[in-house]
Amino acid sequence: PADEVTALLERIKADNVKFIRLQFSDLQGQPKNVAIPPVQAEKALTDGISFDGSSIEGFARIEESDMVLKPDMATYTLLPWRKEEGRVARFICDVHLPDKRPFEGDPRQILKKVVADAARDGYEFNTGPELEFFLFKMINGRPSLEFQDHGGYFDLAPTDLAENVRRAIVLALTEMGFVVEASHHEVAKSQHEIDFKYGPALQTADNVVSFKFATKTIALMNDLHATFMAKPIYGINGSGMHTNCSLFKDGENVFYDPDAPRQLSETALHFIGGVLKHIRGITRIANPTINSYKRLVPGYEAPVYISWSASNRTALCRVPSPRGKSTRMELRSPDPTCNAYLTFAVILAAGMDGVRNRIEPPASADQNIFELSNEERQAAGIDTLPDNLLEANEYLLKDELLCSVLGNHVVENLTRLTEMEWDSYRSMVHPWEVEHYFYQH
Ligand code: ADP
Ligand code: GLU
Ligand code: MG
Ligand code: MG
Repeated sequence: PADEVTALLERIKADNVKFIRLQFSDLQGQPKNVAIPPVQAEKALTDGISFDGSSIEGFARIEESDMVLKPDMATYTLLPWRKEEGRVARFICDVHLPDKRPFEGDPRQILKKVVADAARDGYEFNTGPELEFFLFKMINGRPSLEFQDHGGYFDLAPTDLAENVRRAIVLALTEMGFVVEASHHEVAKSQHEIDFKYGPALQTADNVVSFKFATKTIALMNDLHATFMAKPIYGINGSGMHTNCSLFKDGENVFYDPDAPRQLSETALHFIGGVLKHIRGITRIANPTINSYKRLVPGYEAPVYISWSASNRTALCRVPSPRGKSTRMELRSPDPTCNAYLTFAVILAAGMDGVRNRIEPPASADQNIFELSNEERQAAGIDTLPDNLLEANEYLLKDELLCSVLGNHVVENLTRLTEMEWDSYRSMVHPWEVEHYFYQH
């Protein structure tokens, strides 16, 4: 590591960096950072930099609020939109306690632990998240609810007004080391998607944070507000973060079996079995806001029913048609407000439970489950995802495996946040109530 530090210090100098941002994520996946000048870089890379954890959501501990940021040297990146004087570099950091122990509330290290646990059985977990987002107009310097354009799926300019912004986002991401695979207008007005290449889960979780940060920054430079909120507007599609998952062993995709039915290995089926078994608890993590549950309703291409399929898009777990290296399971429930570290951690833990305990998934639902009647769905044993955050949190508390993966500190804080938000939400008088009761009563 001493050599690595020296090499990095030289690179920081050669890149003419004036500010180094040390970044990490709070419990809700919000990125946080502190900037240091390059003269502090050596100290940061060797001892780490201290900060007060008590003001960070989900970090607060009365007894020990001093925490230390330890930059992950592999995450060094220049921020492409800070080109001229004062170049900015950033590191993603792990959070430690002053005695050097990892902080149990650090989402990144929770994912690292689950990844290391799967690695002990020889598995590498790959994820490919597909983030959708909306672009709204800024009016008088404030984000408004006015759409930037009225385009739809795969539309071109001039219906699609975001061509240039998407282009700028893609170029910035590419400079930051992303391999972008596709970008396009999504189904809803002013909704977009940019896909990048899958990779090991820790790296893609870091990428999710960088993706949101870069997208919001470039949008703002174009006088637009980018939002990853799950359901910003009633009556049209919300934004998902479909998460493609696969396990590799010795460089081979072990979800692929050319001789099996559907060319899906037993490992793939057991992984799906595990994810479906734990999906209700996973939902608390993958759909972490009150608003997330406004997306999980019928009619908008978002999942509602607990099912899997190798052929239809209405299933919660879909197996897209590519095989070989690209064999994967796409979990369609996560939305982009989730903390990607925690989301990938619970998906992997659930999938590995399936693999280790050979959990068979239910029969695959190959018809359009949204067209079935309630009775037909019941007869087929197809259940639904939790209706709201409070219910999802209750499922999480009942899921021993997920609770042990997340640890007490995180579970207690998630529960505290759930109760706080739920109390505030349920006592609020919403426009719906005014519309339905104000005139009649
Ligand atoms: P779809 O339209 O089927 O939902 P996309 O083409 O939009 O899928 O996105 C596919 C995503 O899956 C990309 O991020 C891609 O890199 C990722 N992916 C491809 N192969 C794998 C794999 N083996 N494991 C995980 N993700 C993968
Ligand atoms: N926007 C949809 C969702 O909420 C998904 C659309 C798509 O399949 O790309 O999940
Ligand atoms: Mg999409
Ligand atoms: Mg998809």
